[in-house]
Amino acid sequence: MNPLQARVAQWVREDVRALTAYHVPPAAGLIKLDAMENPYGLPDALRAEWARVLCDAPLNRYPDADAPRVKHQLRATQGVPDGCDILLGNGSDEIIQMIVLAVAQTGRAILAPEPTFVMYRMIALYAGLRFAGVPLREDFALDVTAMLEALEREEPAVVFLAYPNNPTGNLFDERDIAQIIEAAPGLVVIDEAYAPFAEASYLSRVLQYDNVVVMRTLSKMGLAGLRLGYLAGAAAWLQEFDKLRLPYNINVLTQFSTDFLLQHQAMFDAQTAELRRARDELCLELAALPNFQVYPSRANFILLRVPTGQGTPIFDHLRRHGVLIKNLHGQGGQLLDCLRVTVGTAQENRTFLDILGHYVAA
Ligand SMILES: *Cc1c(COP(=O)(O)O)cnc(C)c1O
Repeated sequence: MNPLQARVAQWVREDVRALTAYHVPPAAGLIKLDAMENPYGLPDALRAEWARVLCDAPLNRYPDADAPRVKHQLRATQGVPDGCDILLGNGSDEIIQMIVLAVAQTGRAILAPEPTFVMYRMIALYAGLRFAGVPLREDFALDVTAMLEALEREEPAVVFLAYPNNPTGNLFDERDIAQIIEAAPGLVVIDEAYAPFAEASYLSRVLQYDNVVVMRTLSKMGLAGLRLGYLAGAAAWLQEFDKLRLPYNINVLTQFSTDFLLQHQAMFDAQTAELRRARDELCLELAALPNFQVYPSRANFILLRVPTGQGTPIFDHLRRHGVLIKNLHGQGGQLLDCLRVTVGTAQENRTFLDILGHYVAA
């Protein structure tokens, strides 16, 4: 160890040094079906109008710390009920961080079923908290008995439920969720990142519970580059989380863009409707492949279990032929031999199926 390394080792937390950084694989030149992005860009006419709007963004000034126009547009277009507060994040990832920091105290736990969105675990560890992952059942439904036991044992400050769940794509049963909300001693965050594809939501009911908030994002709808997530729920919770928000977390380009683009919500609705249709078609085509198990999806991606030992070879074959999907095999456990593919344009989906078809036939 040289002196620099020794000093880093002395001062950076041991648990932080033990982490590996979140890895985003390079995608240049590949058909990108790995990250649940909307494959459609903005139509040309709208792009030109958007560029004119951005010209007026005052880059020399700090952004409005409250982003009132963004909140107004969210209320107008996303079905946020009256009486709910809204908290904005630089992506919903940042909101997870604010929530976890707000409860972070030695000995406390964050709980979620697994497999699920990995940031719940990561951020819990960043904040120095315990993370309790409770395995889903074989069909990826909630194991209510195990969840209730874990709630009693861990007394988690926060339970995260992704609805639909990533990477499994399913909606958990409402009666199962009701039992968890009832038994949870702390807060239950229902993460509706895939709301545009789910045709199910807790948003309209969020104020019926003292211990539920709903988190959403514009990322999966078609604006992943903007980095805008939001939390809706009772002011009593959100006012506390807001104290941990960095004052200018929503930059002026995101504020101007969101205000403008949400006036074109109908266009995003048409795109997401098309993606839902394409998803259902892709599911049928994949299910026809021999020995492929296709899990039902209410999101804009599909989880597949391929024949034993074939996960990584199929992933590599697709990448060699120009298509990037997500290989989940390395996560092991219930995700052995599992791949996740994001629904793309009709042509991207066709290319993916053709390349996959060649592999299967060979
Ligand atoms: C993609 C995703 C997010 C993160 O969304 P951002 O707003 O882009 O940070 C949150 N939760 C789940 C379940 C996701 O899949």
